[in-house]
Amino acid sequence: MQAYELIIHGGRVMDPETGFDVIADVAITAGRIAAIGTNLGTAAHTIDATGLVVAPGFIDLHAHGQSIPADRMQAFDGVTTALELELGVFPVARWYDEQAHAGRLLNYGASTGWVFARIAAMTAQQVDPTIEGMGQATRDPRWVNEVANSSEMADILDRVRTGLGQGGLGIGFPNAYAPGTGVKEMSELCSLAADANAPTFTHVAYMSNVDPRSSVEAYTRLIGYAGSTGAHMHICHFNSTSLTDVERAAQLVQTAQRQGLKVTVEAYPYGTGSTVVGANFFSDPDFPIRFGTGYQAIEMVNTGHRFADRADVLAAQAEDPGALVLIHFLDVEVNARHRDLLDVSVLFPGGAIASDAVPWTRDGVTYNGDAWPLPDDAVSHPRSSGTFTRFLSRWVRERQAVSLMEGLRKCTLIPAQILQDSTPGIRKKGRVQVGCDADLVVFDYEALADRADFKAMNRVADGMRHVLVNGQPIITAGVLDLAARPGRPVRRPVTPA
Ligand SMILES: [Zn+2]
Repeated sequence: MQAYELIIHGGRVMDPETGFDVIADVAITAGRIAAIGTNLGTAAHTIDATGLVVAPGFIDLHAHGQSIPADRMQAFDGVTTALELELGVFPVARWYDEQAHAGRLLNYGASTGWVFARIAAMTAQQVDPTIEGMGQATRDPRWVNEVANSSEMADILDRVRTGLGQGGLGIGFPNAYAPGTGVKEMSELCSLAADANAPTFTHVAYMSNVDPRSSVEAYTRLIGYAGSTGAHMHICHFNSTSLTDVERAAQLVQTAQRQGLKVTVEAYPYGTGSTVVGANFFSDPDFPIRFGTGYQAIEMVNTGHRFADRADVLAAQAEDPGALVLIHFLDVEVNARHRDLLDVSVLFPGGAIASDAVPWTRDGVTYNGDAWPLPDDAVSHPRSSGTFTRFLSRWVRERQAVSLMEGLRKCTLIPAQILQDSTPGIRKKGRVQVGCDADLVVFDYEALADRADFKAMNRVADGMRHVLVNGQPIITAGVLDLAARPGRPVRRPVTPA
């Protein structure tokens, strides 16, 4: 009889919560970390981690893929928990049932998708609760542009309340896709979140360097919701929604935080975003002034087509509003000033790294199939495969902008802490401590590198030698287990209807 199921031997074990940073063994039994130390005894299986770092698996607060191919690409980026919090899903209970039935490689979870509640309450459209579904729903844009009347607002609140009761991890507010939403509606929803002790995850209402409807106006409003309702307002992709006003936005957020308001941020380490072509902000006649770029900054993911003018955008929106596009908002390859601006969001003190990973598509159709490696014509955004390794290799190892422990904290403990007041189960994640879930990465720090770029998005990242989810290896010696489905739900307690 062996003492443990698995022992990871001789790695540099790093725990961002306690500061533990020691060469040690980690023993695992029944999906949990059972012991940390030396001479732990015998185990049925062993992993030699000599020369490697053993750290908590990365917790991604912003993952739209939510499929086996998306999970696999993110596993090589060190992600062990992939959460869809910005858009959310609807109905929440059905979504969790579907994931459990299909099986997932990574731990999964989602917020209550307010935008899908709004689409259902204000239009007759039935759409998938996905980013592509939201794009398709712009064909009847009443939910995008209009204030809800009182019965619609009651309907929206009711649907969102139901989703929270079904264990949704908070409320997703992709407000920029429905900028016509009234402040009364948002404030009611924030009060609902505060009463339910649930966080909110916001893509702020406006993305613009200029007033009115500037990013600064949107952040000021978001901070107002935190102060006036008590809700925890988490800002999604602080890098992209701040455009070139990120320094001012960071001042506003830090001032709010110093006053004790529950405002948190995440960012991804790229100067290019991704969304659906149907998004209203692309057809705004003032788009070039508001974004500070020309139309050629918008690129179709599927074809690589760069837009020429507004008519070109309108034609693409009419054809397939759910089609995915890239939006090159900062030129970090060439422009040193833009690189500094990206640093403000990526290195924001106490901020999380989160990928905003988008679904994989082939020929413009979402790809959820089993082919591995992912086919060369499968496209997404490099962040869907390289966010965390990019941050750790470039910002942490090469530039030493923060220590490795602090870099890991931004990928593990900080996202866990953003959720843990409302989702007790996540207290067992983002840590390498006895009793915690054995979601672990074992990586070669010197070899860590993102390999995906805008020409070849399907390249997995380098450096992850072993990745474990709930104690089960999903990557062993750099090789993916195609059959593994150890992912479990991350969910708030379900309240009886
Ligand atoms: Zn977003």
